[in-house]
Amino acid sequence: MSRRWRVAICGIASESCTFSPLDIAMSDTHALVGAQVLQRHPLLQSEPDVEFVPLLRVDAVPGGRWQADVYQHHLDAMLAALRDNGPWDGVLLDLHGALYVVGHEDAEAHQLAAVRAIVGPDALLAASYDLHGNVSEADVAGLDILTALRTAPHADYAETRARAAQLLIRALREGVRPARALVRLPLTLPGECAMTLVEPAQSLYARIPITIGPGVWDASLLVGYTWADEPRVGASVVTLGDDAVACERAALALAAACWAVRQQFQFGQQTGTVDECITWALAEQPTPVFISDAGDNVTGGGVGDVPCVLERLLAHGASDTLYASLTDAPAVAACQAAGVGATLALQVGGKLDPIHGAPLAIEARVLALRHAAFTGAATIVQVQGVTLVLTSERCAFTERNDFAVLGLEPRAYRIVVVKLGYLHDELQPIAARSLLAFSAGCLNPDITKLRFERLRRPIYPLDPDMAWQPSATVWA
Ligand SMILES: [Zn+2]
Repeated sequence: MSRRWRVAICGIASESCTFSPLDIAMSDTHALVGAQVLQRHPLLQSEPDVEFVPLLRVDAVPGGRWQADVYQHHLDAMLAALRDNGPWDGVLLDLHGALYVVGHEDAEAHQLAAVRAIVGPDALLAASYDLHGNVSEADVAGLDILTALRTAPHADYAETRARAAQLLIRALREGVRPARALVRLPLTLPGECAMTLVEPAQSLYARIPITIGPGVWDASLLVGYTWADEPRVGASVVTLGDDAVACERAALALAAACWAVRQQFQFGQQTGTVDECITWALAEQPTPVFISDAGDNVTGGGVGDVPCVLERLLAHGASDTLYASLTDAPAVAACQAAGVGATLALQVGGKLDPIHGAPLAIEARVLALRHAAFTGAATIVQVQGVTLVLTSERCAFTERNDFAVLGLEPRAYRIVVVKLGYLHDELQPIAARSLLAFSAGCLNPDITKLRFERLRRPIYPLDPDMAWQPSATVWA
């Protein structure tokens, strides 16, 4: 009888901003169980010699550190599923690379060690990562295969997970535990400075296919996630294959190419202070002009309730402006109680993140009461010239359908404020112009202002004159 490999699919993934005052609680996490997990793997092909068994996949809207008991609860469930449904030839882990748990600053390494203890030394562990993941030696030591996204804004989730599966299948079929090489660069960047359709990242990512060749099965360049205060933060290159020397050489070359252009990484949008961005937007034709409230970018871990841009819009007397959105469940409830058409005094925002903002006093007229899966209960109110979306859940408006489900058309406005960093692919075409505001919040795009204590130094650009020669750690 021919051999049939058994591969579990699981993982706990998140992007954790350690500068956030708001930890991830149980109610912030979302679990996919059993067949639901396959929603995330649309390109996973059935193979005659492989049985994929989806078990459990857990994530959360990007935010702060995970509370230890929340992580442990989900980890225990994942390990129990692995234990109860084994034995396993492989595990396909759907990770991010920037999970920080109170008590486990390198939570991927902790998770991988726990999985290894269940599945044993012979099983192969393959992980897909976000390119905003931070990779430590312990992470690569705990894995046999790591492959990361190659686009930012992200457009290749399905391809990346399928590639991790294909690499795992190849290793099983060939009976090879891949060699890996890791180069950690002393370089940390906001993701907005490394958009893969903007130079120099575009040319660097174009090198990946030509880095793959004889002996080198795969290569990844990870920009890293900068809003975490831990030693593994930074860019990295990971290669893997069946020739350790070739993998090391390829990793060193890609890392050297990245280091050589370190001074060229720049924001892909025009940046400015909040007041500058509002002034530019008010003078701009055509419209709409999108302003990213980047300090409170929810897709990067921002809290989502810092009202500083709203306060400045009102001070400028901005009109025809859509502000999407501000998280404030009590304000939503007050609007629901008042009803459509009512005018009421509210104190909005500054409750979940009181460090970077304070509640803002407004007088709001309730235009509509809504509900959507990603917003929870929501309300749309008018505050002077600003149409303000209040939500009960932390969320970000990343695509046109997010506006549409609430009955909003962003193209009808002069200015649209979103709690994002770079604009995602769907919004870019409708933005006549896109500005990135250095606004208040735990995701300050000016990383020289962050108070790092655990970051390894020297690191560029915080130590701008540092010298560095690439060196690789190799697992043969
Ligand atoms: Zn990312």
